[in-house]
Amino acid sequence: MSIARTFAVLLGLAVAACGGKTTEPITPTEPTDVAPTPTEPSAPPTPTPPVTAVNPFFAESTLYLHAPHFDQVREEHYMPAFVEGMQREADEMKAIAAQTEPPTFENTIVAMEKSGQTLARVSRVFGQLSGALDNDNMQKIQADVAPMLAKHYDDIRLNPALFARIHTLYEQRDSLGLDPVGRRLLERYHLDFVRAGANLSESDKTKLRALNEEESKLSAKYSELQIKGMNGGAIVVEDVTQLDGMSEADIAGAAAAATARGQSGKWMIPLINTTGQPALASLKNRALREKIYRASIARGHAGDALDVTAIVARIAQVRAQRAGLLGFANAAAYVLDDQMAKTPEAALKLLAKVGPRAVKRAKAELADMQKLVDKQKGGFKIQPWDWDFYAEQVRKEKYALDESQIRPYLQLDRVLKDGVFFAAHELYGLSFKQRTDLPVYHPDVQVYEVFGADGTTVGLIYMDYYARETKHGGAWMNSFVDQSELLGRKPVVTNTLNVPKPAAGQPALLTWDEVTTMFHEFGHGLHGLLSTVKYPYMSGTNTPRDFVEFPSQFNENWALEPRVFANYAKHHETGAVMPDELVAKVKKAGTFNQGYATLEALESALLDLEWHALAPTAPLQDPEAFEAAALKKHKVDLAAVPPRYRTTYFSHVWGGGYAAGYYAYMWTAVLGADAYQWFVEHKGMTPANGKTFAGAILSRGGSVDAHDLYKQFRGKEPSVDALLKQRGL
Ligand SMILES: [Zn+2]
Repeated sequence: MSIARTFAVLLGLAVAACGGKTTEPITPTEPTDVAPTPTEPSAPPTPTPPVTAVNPFFAESTLYLHAPHFDQVREEHYMPAFVEGMQREADEMKAIAAQTEPPTFENTIVAMEKSGQTLARVSRVFGQLSGALDNDNMQKIQADVAPMLAKHYDDIRLNPALFARIHTLYEQRDSLGLDPVGRRLLERYHLDFVRAGANLSESDKTKLRALNEEESKLSAKYSELQIKGMNGGAIVVEDVTQLDGMSEADIAGAAAAATARGQSGKWMIPLINTTGQPALASLKNRALREKIYRASIARGHAGDALDVTAIVARIAQVRAQRAGLLGFANAAAYVLDDQMAKTPEAALKLLAKVGPRAVKRAKAELADMQKLVDKQKGGFKIQPWDWDFYAEQVRKEKYALDESQIRPYLQLDRVLKDGVFFAAHELYGLSFKQRTDLPVYHPDVQVYEVFGADGTTVGLIYMDYYARETKHGGAWMNSFVDQSELLGRKPVVTNTLNVPKPAAGQPALLTWDEVTTMFHEFGHGLHGLLSTVKYPYMSGTNTPRDFVEFPSQFNENWALEPRVFANYAKHHETGAVMPDELVAKVKKAGTFNQGYATLEALESALLDLEWHALAPTAPLQDPEAFEAAALKKHKVDLAAVPPRYRTTYFSHVWGGGYAAGYYAYMWTAVLGADAYQWFVEHKGMTPANGKTFAGAILSRGGSVDAHDLYKQFRGKEPSVDALLKQRGL
């Protein structure tokens, strides 16, 4: 029973959700979105339909490696399986707690590890399909199940008899004869219960439950208003000439968006969740750019029915009060205590190393663009709504990179087999064979069996690459079956992307971002596949948030490795390798606009940490004043570079699971670049180095403290130097 993990999956948080909305470019360095859409406000649970005899979640799958029975799964199976799964787990926990024999590691901790299988089966499949094959019915199930699960896990973790057994073992941990991993598992269980409030007095437990409940309601309300605010902020254009600069495909998309919302004959530019909006890069009409930008940043604090300022202020206060109840100075200290960073100070220290460089670089980028405006006799100073438009012109001028030149060399199938798989073969000795005999949940999904260097089966990976109506935006990795020696399981994982599907008979030609995203998600896949741990709690990607994006960001490096690149970047018609001057452009473009991209993300990371640094006794804050003061305090208040997410639409933090966690993207980017630097220092891409990395990092899951794990591999603390260099800072 990996409580935290199972719960995350259920809330729609894919194990490693990396992308943004479809329309938002996925940058390799800063994956943008927590997860598919937050849950609707909780409605009363629907009456449970009668349990049928053939619910495929009730028993372990009989398919190869326990692959899910997608040939049998139907939507009506989910709710009964959730109800049954929670009941079975509750019964298992009661039985563990009620034993008359004194607690042992086996009869308590290992027994808990073995529990909850039915709930895990349904949660994993539902977690993937609610993002990859969504509809109103799935959303309703999710909204109904979320509060039931929250209560289910509170009931387990606040069960005094169960905690008493764990606590007894914890006190005896020096004399139990446990190996280091077993000892860590025991300590982790104890810590999880303590962090959930198991040590509190009954009256404090009651207070805690009330705060949890208030937060989950506020959070649901926030998500509802935030989505409405985003949808309601769409800009309608009545005259197509205003869209000058946009591609024909984008203009057609805007017309379709207007028609879909009952405004036929007009054009609609919907907002995405970030401050920046894709249309700003191409629209020549400066007034329209400003209008779109202002609509974007006004979200959530207009004093209207969609205003969320009071909600976020109270959520911050509730979290501070809960942290105080649990003995922490603030919510950030509570969250980070269980992360690789350990303290908010450590996270801030890292951000402070990047901050001044990012500011300096962003100012240089701004100066470049201002020169261009002046040369064109624009007669204005660059404003936030001008940045993307002029950055695009600088990109063409300075880097001369036109995406349409490189795409013919980036064919999906070739990138996968001759790039992503090839790199994994060269490093880890893996080979891949497509399996067409296993059922899939959509005809576009492909299954591969993965073999190790010795020819034995490592696991399965499902590739779901194409965008479709029912799929949420972005890209993510998920797991259907976690590797575990205890349960005798090999890993079954997935990669999901949103590559536009080509017309029948046409090849899928990728953008550079999409290539990087494939390598990124496959890095998560490797983390799941190469896991060799005993306990499911510690398997694969079950690691702290500020560690889990490390293997994926690290794996992005191989996309540009000369030997790998030359192997996959071939013209889809002629098979010719990409000309050298084009390769050079692709490489050089990697540092383009990185001052801006780094700074906007950094600002949001700092905002998040500041919001969660409030003391338990702090009064309610005014979000606008708070935000301005926080940015000023950290000297990142550059007018032309607003935060990637402003407080009121920072859904990672108020509606998602990233409270005091947004810094993790920067933190893991540092690890990814620093680990690649280790390869550079040790003769690069060799099987020996791959073996070292897999042995030290990819195989270990969460079986060792993340900080210790990294230090053991690297031989020293991670340094930000490699990342600064990579980004041209
Ligand atoms: Zn990721």
